[in-house]
Amino acid sequence: MNRAHNFNPGPAALPLEVLQKVQSELLDFAGTGMSILEVSHRSKDYEAVHNAAQSLMRELLGIPENYHILFLGGGASLQFSMVPMNLLGPGVSADYVITGAWSQKAFKEAKLVGNPRVAATTEEDGKFTRIPKQEELQLDPQARYVHITSNNTIFGTQWHTFPNTGNVPIVADMSSDFLWRPFDIKPFGLIYGGAQKNLGPAGVTVVIIRDDLLALCREDIPIILRFKTHAKDNSLYNTPPVFAIYIVKLVLEWIKEKGGLAWMEQENRAKAARIYGVIDSYPEFYRAPVAKDSRSFMNAVFRLPSEELENKFLEGAKAHRFVGLKGHRSVGGIRVSMYNYVPKSSVEELARYMEEFARAHA
Ligand SMILES: *Cc1c(COP(=O)(O)O)cnc(C)c1O
Repeated sequence: MNRAHNFNPGPAALPLEVLQKVQSELLDFAGTGMSILEVSHRSKDYEAVHNAAQSLMRELLGIPENYHILFLGGGASLQFSMVPMNLLGPGVSADYVITGAWSQKAFKEAKLVGNPRVAATTEEDGKFTRIPKQEELQLDPQARYVHITSNNTIFGTQWHTFPNTGNVPIVADMSSDFLWRPFDIKPFGLIYGGAQKNLGPAGVTVVIIRDDLLALCREDIPIILRFKTHAKDNSLYNTPPVFAIYIVKLVLEWIKEKGGLAWMEQENRAKAARIYGVIDSYPEFYRAPVAKDSRSFMNAVFRLPSEELENKFLEGAKAHRFVGLKGHRSVGGIRVSMYNYVPKSSVEELARYMEEFARAHA
C-alpha cells in the first residue's frame, strides 16, 4: 500500500484504521448480511450507530444534557442560512465577527433574512491576517447571538481564546477545527460544522444547539429548515446521511481509544509546532503573513520568496507524495492543512522537506 501524505484542505485525511474498519464491515454490517448503505435509517442497527455517534461526541466534548446534537445535510453553507432564518426576525439583531471568507459568506446570508451587524472585521486589503482582540469587538448586549468562525481555513488564523460576549451566546462555525481539542461549551449557544475537514467524511453537518436558543427558534419557516424539527425527531425527520454518520461514529471511537481530546490536542500542538518551527527558522525564506498570536493549528499558510520557487516547491512535493499543499487561490503560496487525522509522521516528513528546500534555495 502506498498512501499519500494527505494535506488536503477538505475533504481531508481520515484515520487509516477507520478506513480499514469501513472496508471490513462494508459487505456485512453487524451481521445483517447487508451493507450499512442498504439498510433502513429506521432500523435498530442503524439507530444504534446514530445514537452512539451522538453519545460519543457528548462524552468526548463533555456536552451537557441541555444541548441537542443534530446530524443534518447541506454542509456548513446551509447553516449560514439556517442559523439566521431560525434565530433572527423583525427587531432581532445578531453580531458577526468577520475574520475571513467563510464569515463573510455567513454574514451575507444573515443580511438576507435580518439586520445583522459587523461587530469587528480584520480585513485589510482584502486579506485577513489576524483574529481581533477583545477590546476591538463592538458588541451589542441586545444581540441574539455573536457569530464567529473559530478557524479560518483559507487565511490560516484561529481563535486561541474565545471572545467574552457577556450574556449573549456565541454561535460558531467550527467546520475546520471542531474536535481539535477540549473546550468549554458553556458560552456557546450553537456550534455547527461540515464534517469533511476535522471530523469525518463529507455529507454530514453537525449542529449542537442549546435548549434556550432552540426555544427561541422560529416556527414560521419551512419545516425541514427548522432546528426544532430535527431536535424533536433526533435528526431522523428525513433520511440522514447514514454512511457519513457511521464513519463519524468510527472516528469518534478511534479518538476515544487513542486517549480522547487531550491526546488529540497534544498531537495537534506537536504537528503545528514542527511546521511553524521550520517557518520561523528560515524567516527570510518562508514568510508567514499571519500574526503569531492568531496562527492556526490546523492550516499553516506561508509564502516563498517568489512564485517560481513556490511552484518548484509544489513540484518537488509530488515526488514525496505530499498532496493538497497549494494555497487557496485568494491567498496564494502554500497551505499545510494538518487536521486531526494527518499523522505526525506525515508532518515530520514534510517538515524535513521544507528544511531541505530552504537550505537548497535560500
Ligand atoms: C469548508 C468550510 C465551510 C464550507 O463547508 P461546506 O460543508 O462545504 O458548506 C464553511 N466554513 C468553514 C470554516 C469551512 O472551512
